[in-house]
Amino acid sequence: MNEQLKVLVGLQEIDSSILSIAERIESLPGRLGKWKAPLKEATASVLSVKTKYEKLNRDKKEKELELEEIQEKINKLKSRSSGIKTNKEYEAHLKEIKGVEGNRHHIEDEILSLMEDIEGLTKDLQKEEARVKKTEEDFKQQEKTLEEEKKRLHSEMETYKTKRKGFVAQIDGEIYEQYMNLLKRMSGLAVVRTEKEICLGCNTNIPPQLYNDIKKNENVFICYFCNRFLYYKEGRETVQT
Ligand SMILES: [Zn+2]
Repeated sequence: MNEQLKVLVGLQEIDSSILSIAERIESLPGRLGKWKAPLKEATASVLSVKTKYEKLNRDKKEKELELEEIQEKINKLKSRSSGIKTNKEYEAHLKEIKGVEGNRHHIEDEILSLMEDIEGLTKDLQKEEARVKKTEEDFKQQEKTLEEEKKRLHSEMETYKTKRKGFVAQIDGEIYEQYMNLLKRMSGLAVVRTEKEICLGCNTNIPPQLYNDIKKNENVFICYFCNRFLYYKEGRETVQT
């Protein structure tokens, strides 16, 4: 193969690898982003349960204060009993105590019901907190994995860049300039294989005479349509049936 053509093919292989590595590096934050959603969801969920849990505890405290007040009221009422003179007054007094005590029972029931709810929510909260912990761990693990992948990709990239310098040193300045322009214009593909009289860069037919010359790989030819550098590789042409 023509020396310059050989260098061009090698350079293209390196640049394709570099581009693919760069794409993979760019995709890393997006891949980590996917792991953020479950963490966010679990955190929001635990917060919602926590809010409910705190509200129930506040309600319970309020009811307990109410209960204390009622108990005091009952005590006061009972202490007044000694001052009562008539039966009628006594009956009214007992009725009042009964009424307040009924109220106390009602509040006691409310407190019991709140305690049951709190117990249930405590379990939910523990479950949700465990879920947050698990998603946090998953996220951190993924972050670590992707960080390692990033390091590996950067080091791979450096290897290719060093190799690239060796190829650039061997290439003719004008051809290199042409190559770089094509690389920019043609989405990173400046040197392409030919097959069955077709440029595999733009799928345009190559005139038979030119194709025969390309197949020899003795000179640097370009596609008259897309201007890419063309080469031929033995054995890749499939036999038609
Ligand atoms: Zn072409």
